[in-house]
Amino acid sequence: MSKLTVAKFGGTSVADHHAMLRCANIVKNDLATRVVVVSASAGVTNHLVRLSQADVAQDEQLLLIEKITAIQNNILQQLDHASEVQAHVEKILDHLASLAQQQAENYSAQLSDAILACGEQMSSVIFAHVLRSLGIATECFDVREVMRTNSLYGKAVVDIEALKSHCVELLQPKLTSKVIVTQGFIGKDGLGHTTTLGRGGSDYSAALLAEALDADNLAIWTDVVGIFTTDPRITDQARAIEEISFGEAAEMATFGAKILHPATLIPAMRHNIPVFVGSSKEPEKGGTRIQQQVNSAPTYRSIALRKEQTLVTVKSPAMLHASGFLAQVFAILAKHELSVDLITTSEISVALTFDNPTGSTQALLTSAVVQELEQLCEVTIEHGLSLVAVIGNNLHATSGLGSNIFDNINEVNIRMICHGASANNLCFLVPEKDANTVVEQLHNTLFA
Ligand code: ASP
Ligand code: MG
Repeated sequence: MSKLTVAKFGGTSVADHHAMLRCANIVKNDLATRVVVVSASAGVTNHLVRLSQADVAQDEQLLLIEKITAIQNNILQQLDHASEVQAHVEKILDHLASLAQQQAENYSAQLSDAILACGEQMSSVIFAHVLRSLGIATECFDVREVMRTNSLYGKAVVDIEALKSHCVELLQPKLTSKVIVTQGFIGKDGLGHTTTLGRGGSDYSAALLAEALDADNLAIWTDVVGIFTTDPRITDQARAIEEISFGEAAEMATFGAKILHPATLIPAMRHNIPVFVGSSKEPEKGGTRIQQQVNSAPTYRSIALRKEQTLVTVKSPAMLHASGFLAQVFAILAKHELSVDLITTSEISVALTFDNPTGSTQALLTSAVVQELEQLCEVTIEHGLSLVAVIGNNLHATSGLGSNIFDNINEVNIRMICHGASANNLCFLVPEKDANTVVEQLHNTLFA
């Protein structure tokens, strides 16, 4: 069969009719792009997150639905011959109103996911219409038919085997005759309930579909012209990176560069599918290619910053020359499904970081977890920290690394340093208030 590209368009790429039309032209101009994964139109998921919460009063509920309706109507009004699509979107909005009502009466995480899923359901129906309006044979496909997950609502885990076999059976045969538009972010559990994969999960959905369909490329279309050496909002010296290895890009995605959902590269790496990241606003500017083999492997590739980190230090004199303490600490964290990022240890204490973003749909470090840890050891919690990650190649074997990095930021209190486990990164924590300056100074030095 001919080449296949799975393309994903993010929220800003499908924010309004103009943006959707640009994306539709990207699809039209590349015959290999036959599977299109969309996010909800920009802003919609944020409103849905609020709507899905337990404490939304009736008037706020109405206001939120009004705002969501306005975003969708703004697009629908620009479409020709759209009565069918209009009716479909209205049906989803009615369903949403009823879900919100049920949620207000009797909150459940399962209803939350059903609410969150409405954004992608609407944008996909609309985008399929826009593609058709350009003369492209298009079908809007309900991804829940193939994206089977467990019932961990808000952060559901995809059954990769089932996805593969369902894609081969249900999706693959369609690709010879039309373009498939489908939803990112959502799935369905064994009970038939809608699930979601976590905020920003559409990238990951697209990568999983690319893997399951044995695609040749994955294209992530967003609102920036690729991956930058650092966040361009921090320094205007930041520049787009032409190509980057999977290993480096995975570190970047994990450590803050908000461009890709951190899990996105896992299926791509597993299946060796090159990933392209570009701006749907300026496709002619190219973007970043992420692949296994790269032409150059510079020592310093980029600097990532992740704010709102929580540092937990657990301390126990019992750890002195003892064994099994770490296993006990991690067993508690595993039980609560908490994912640890950085770790440093001394003889009797361990420091761990957790990503703790505002507006997360996940309960993170709850008091239940802390209480359980406290039965084992002394626990100290610090907030207001940022994680700076210097990403590159061979960092574990580069002399002068320490002075290159830390000599330039010696006024700042470095709270924790992690180095040596990865050839691709060196990470440290700094107070939130110093974070941007640190990144700017480092960028000036390392990328001058
Ligand atoms: N719409 C979802 C979100 O905003 C998923 C995504 O866009 O990737 O988190
Ligand atoms: Mg996104």
